[in-house]
Order: sequence, then C-alpha cells, then structure tokens
Amino acid sequence: MTTVPDLKMNDGHTIPQLGFGVFQIPQDETEVAVTTALKEGYRLIDTAQGYQNEEGVGAALKASDVARDDVYITTKLANRHQGYDSTMAAFDASMAKLGIDVLDLFLIHWPQPMFDQYVDTWRAFEKLQSDGRIRSIGVSNFEIEHFERLFAETDVVPAVNQVELHPQFPQAELRAFHAEHGILTESWGPIGQGKGLLENPHVQRVADRKGRTPAQVVLRWHLQLGLVVIPKSVTPSRIAENIAVFDFELDDQDMADIAAVETGERLGPDPKTFAMR
Ligand code: NAD
Repeated sequence: MTTVPDLKMNDGHTIPQLGFGVFQIPQDETEVAVTTALKEGYRLIDTAQGYQNEEGVGAALKASDVARDDVYITTKLANRHQGYDSTMAAFDASMAKLGIDVLDLFLIHWPQPMFDQYVDTWRAFEKLQSDGRIRSIGVSNFEIEHFERLFAETDVVPAVNQVELHPQFPQAELRAFHAEHGILTESWGPIGQGKGLLENPHVQRVADRKGRTPAQVVLRWHLQLGLVVIPKSVTPSRIAENIAVFDFELDDQDMADIAAVETGERLGPDPKTFAMR
C-alpha cells in the first residue's frame, strides 16, 4: 500500500499531497469507491455539499478499519448556502451526513462575486475554526481579487485554494500569488476530466519514455510543482494507478514536455462569472 507524503499548511496542520476526489460519483456508488480508495492508501477524501454524496463518504469512513484521525476529510459549502447563518446550518448538515465531529478542511466552493456574500461566509468559517469544529479553512475557485477583499476585511488567511489546474491550464500567476501568501494550491480536474489531455502526444511521449501511464506522469507533474492533487475514478484499477506515483520522478525535460500542452483554456467555468446557486 502506498504512503502519501504530507504538506504543511499556514495554520500548522498538514494535508496529504494526493487524495481522492468524488465529484460526479452517485451517492450509491460512493461508499464502494471510497472504500477501494482507502484500501489503496488514499487518506484524503474530497467531497462537497453540491456532489450530494457526503453520506456515501461517511458510510465508507464508518465501515473502514482506518482510524478517523488517519483520514483527511474535505467538504465544500454549496453556493446556495453562502451567508453567515446559512453557512452555520449547512455545516451542521454536512457533519451529520459525514458522521464526524471535527472536519479537516472546509472550502467556499465558488466565490460567486455577483452575490457578494463570500466575506460574510468567510467570517462564519473563521468562527467555526475558532470554535474547534474545523481544523483548516480554505477556498475554492478564488481569484486574486477575491483574496484581496478577504485580506482587507477578515482575519484568517485561507490555508488552501482549490482551483482548476492541469498542464493545459497551469495557473502560473495564481500559483505565484499563493506562494507569496503561504496558501497551498490544490488542483481540481488534475488529469483533464477525461477531455483529451491524457491522449495528447506530448503527454504520451513522456509516459512512453518513463514506462508509466499518461495519468501517472501528469499526476507527477502536479506533485513535483508542490501542488495537492485529487484525481477521481470509480474504476478500481485506475484508483490504484493514480496513487502509484511515488516511486519515480520526472526530470526537467519531462516537466517541460508536459508543460508544452498549455493552451490557456479552462475546461470548467470562469469563477468571475460563474453564478450557479
Ligand atoms: P479528473 O481530472 O480527476 O478526471 C477524472 C476523470 O478522468 C474520470 O472520470 C475518468 O474519466 C478519467 N480517469 C481517471 N483516472 C484515469 C486513469 N488512470 N486513466 C485514464 N483516465 C482516467 O477530474 P475531476 O473529477 O473533475 O477532478 C478531480 C476532483 O477535483 C473531483 O472529483 C472533485 O473532488 C474536485 N473538483 C473540484 C471542483 C471545484 O470547483 N472545487 C471542480 C471539479 C472537481
């Protein structure tokens, strides 16, 4: 079984550098998928209120012989629950579904700047953290301008920003901003969401050279950039493949070849305009 290294966060806690994402896994398949992931050595599970599968994650945790304290759980506040009081209520609902007392990491899922609630929402996150109900608090899909408002109007610097990030959309400017402020970068859609990245000839050439799969060399690219990465799969062989990435390294040429696939195009929505409630 693979052991994943930890990264240190700005609040003193640590987070496993590679975890298991459960976006788009139906509730009734989630327990099995998470159980497989835990058996393979994954110790970070990334869910969200919006994925409607927190109960499946909770069921897998309860059934597992891995101790609660050895598993790192992230969930995200659904957009429709932004605002101070509704964040508090939605947090309680998540904890009941997950069946846990303390959450490792809570993220604001999207800034939704057009509704102007993320500052109040963040104040609720700060309160939940100071009450000891969440170890670390962070954000997702935040851009530099959203951080600048949090820095001006609130007290705690987010520990993490989880954003779309993969070799086609490497987010160099945002990564540099995070580094300057001690914020960890977590990559979503890390292997390109099944939309062609893994078939790209540049990626395939590196995979052939290393005797590894395209998914594995792309995951190494993230790890070697110091990113937290959370690939998703429901296929047991792929769940195993995606964590078997700690016994080889990419050299500078491999990293450059993978970086050559950059298009600057997102696969998902633009956080500045995405307005889903
Ligand atoms: P991903 O890049 O992890 O791609 C997943 C898809 O890649 C799978 O559905 C499968 O089709 C394919 N795949 C998986 N392993 C493979 C392998 N070894 N070989 C070939 N194909 C393989 O995309 P994702 O699920 O969107 O992102 C990962 C996680 O990030 C999510 O599950 C979720 O937890 C998180 N996420 C967060 C946000 C956000 O707004 N914060 C948005 C999207 C995803």
